[in-house]
Amino acid sequence: MSDSGKFDSSEVERGLTGRPVRELTEPEPLSEHGPAHIIAMCNQKGGVGKTTSTINMGACIAELGRKVLLVDLDPQGALSAGLGVPHNDVDVTIYDLLVDRKADVHDAVHSTAVPNLDLVPANIDLSAAEIQLVNEVGREQALARALRPVMKDYDFIILDCQPSLGLLTVNALACAQDVIIPMECEYFALRGLALLTDTVEKVSDRINFDLEIMGILVTMFDRRTSHAREVMSRVVEVFGDRVFDTVITRTVRFPETSVAGEPITTWAPKSQGADQYRSLALEVLERTAR
Ligand code: ADP
Ligand code: MG
Repeated sequence: MSDSGKFDSSEVERGLTGRPVRELTEPEPLSEHGPAHIIAMCNQKGGVGKTTSTINMGACIAELGRKVLLVDLDPQGALSAGLGVPHNDVDVTIYDLLVDRKADVHDAVHSTAVPNLDLVPANIDLSAAEIQLVNEVGREQALARALRPVMKDYDFIILDCQPSLGLLTVNALACAQDVIIPMECEYFALRGLALLTDTVEKVSDRINFDLEIMGILVTMFDRRTSHAREVMSRVVEVFGDRVFDTVITRTVRFPETSVAGEPITTWAPKSQGADQYRSLALEVLERTAR
């Protein structure tokens, strides 16, 4: 944030990827909303920043006047908890929407403290969904079917995947236009990404021809270590322009926000972490032309 309190993308330290820094422009206001562009936040490794990025990128896109629905696809329910939704005692969760054709998505949508930001929660019930879906016709399309009635209401639907490449994640990939892959900036992070990109390719070959990898998001970057800088240059070597210019640095502010149950934009609006996710939101809008 600048002194005027307005977000100024030029103040965010970029160029951490080693590439030249580009200017990002604020998008025009929208006069109407929808249809939704669906983004899956995906990495079968746990603890890489999927949920943190879903919450904070979602909140920052909402700050830009876009209507955003976040969908929790992890039985751990960290996304729901991270936004203060009491997911263990709600009536309708994503589980019901996936397995019960009569369940209505409108009954599962919760508003959050952030204007323009809604959530469909999950809890441990969801861990049974894969087994229940496996023998269904169109088992990969259950999520697309469940979300269809609200597609017209949102500009973005962001899916927080669980750390696996199982049927729930395939459901996410089957209905998304784009995948964002958050990855922790550490030595073994690149391992496993081949399997993930392979899965994305298979789904785009067989089920969802529109699916693309929008970008690789480097998270938990520690600028003080040469190790992190080495991993970064390797990531850029492998993925080139697909790596977002915005890099999320490691800070204790993020674990704090999970406890607080709110995004960093309200918990610490002027922090570097908040501005990094604002910068990411601008890149996402640029890459989706919205
Ligand atoms: P995933 O959803 O991929 O399992 P999370 O978003 O839950 O990963 O993040 C795992 C842990 O790391 C959480 O405790 C979260 O608060 C913390 N974390 C996420 N991003 C950062 C960051 N940039 N700096 C420090 N801690 C982070
Ligand atoms: Mg998670």
